[in-house]
Amino acid sequence: MDLITVREVRTPSTRAELRFAPGELPLGGGTWLFSEPQPGLTGLVDLTTLGWRPLEVGDDVVTVAATCTIAELTRLPARDDWAAHPLVAQCANSLLASFKVWNVATVGGNVATSLPAGALTSLLAGLDATAVVWTPDGGERREPVARLVTGVRTNTLTTGEVLRSFEVPTASLRSRAGFRRVALSPLGRSGALVTSRLSPDGEFVVTITAGTTRPEQLRFDEVPGAAVLAGAVARVGTWYDDPHGAPDWRRHVSALFAEELRAEALLPQQPPPAAPFVHRPGPLGSATADAAARTAVPAPVAPGPGPGAAAASPAPAPAPDPEGGAA
Ligand SMILES: Cc1cc2nc3c(=O)[nH]c(=O)nc-3n(C[C@H](O)[C@H](O)[C@H](O)COP(=O)(O)OP(=O)(O)OC[C@H]3O[C@@H](n4cnc5c(N)ncnc54)[C@H](O)[C@@H]3O)c2cc1C
Repeated sequence: MDLITVREVRTPSTRAELRFAPGELPLGGGTWLFSEPQPGLTGLVDLTTLGWRPLEVGDDVVTVAATCTIAELTRLPARDDWAAHPLVAQCANSLLASFKVWNVATVGGNVATSLPAGALTSLLAGLDATAVVWTPDGGERREPVARLVTGVRTNTLTTGEVLRSFEVPTASLRSRAGFRRVALSPLGRSGALVTSRLSPDGEFVVTITAGTTRPEQLRFDEVPGAAVLAGAVARVGTWYDDPHGAPDWRRHVSALFAEELRAEALLPQQPPPAAPFVHRPGPLGSATADAAARTAVPAPVAPGPGPGAAAASPAPAPAPDPEGGAA
């Protein structure tokens, strides 16, 4: 939509030019900013003109620029020892977006928007990534993504702060990872998304997003017993309530997913990535459509704005989306 209160869009090319007047906001891909009215917004400062390299692969960290698009992120080359690499495509495909969103929405914009179903927040939190934040005084600070997002559309960013990049430890990418996701409707926003990571040193981390208002991480020195894990999930108190899922359903499916991932981590070999969930539309409301919507078949997951990844649990009836059906 047109943002009729915006009078200026500035295009900095250096950090010195990166300044925000009152009423101005950073612009990433603009897919959220231009999707709803922005009262009081008078100007935008386009971060994409700063020329940040989307991806830089180092020995210890992979640096993902905040302006890296979802499409670019999915082109991060796999390495033989990066067992967690499939998480990139699995999480990216959880953001059920058109090719336009896929190609312009940025990783930083996704984290800064801080929706519970922020699929890149799920990925980065699950991989223990650190956000590098540029502060208005010319400095920078670092904070784990899992802590930066504090609630529904809230985070620790203050006025004038800009997400510069995300540092993903290569140790996380070398971990054995698992992924589960479910949505109420085949092309719906994530209702619950749970990842697991078993590090080479034995640490087991379960990260719950989409079902909770902010990322919840459950950390264990080793793969815990079922009762210990269930107890940890039961202590989570931030279950989200919106038309994409009721809190008790989100708690229930997240607990099921966490237990599945715990059992998976005990298997001698890493199982293949969960098959993507492919929706084959039939006539609206028909039995064919409903049956097709529940059919999981193998399909390539990247690159491209493919439908979301496998939903292991049966999907209840779709709920109305007051936000106009954006996934
Ligand atoms: C069809 C559709 C489906 C969508 N599905 C999902 C979904 O499933 N899950 C989801 O989370 N979102 C979804 N969105 C919302 C949005 O598109 C995504 O969150 C997207 O990743 C936002 O990225 P962007 O670069 O376009 O952000 P922008 O729209 O450019 O910015 C979003 C917000 O972040 C701020 N911002 C941007 N970059 C930075 C930065 N580097 N530092 C600080 N602040 C910054 C902006 O000022 C603004 O407040 C969807 C949108 C559409 C239109």
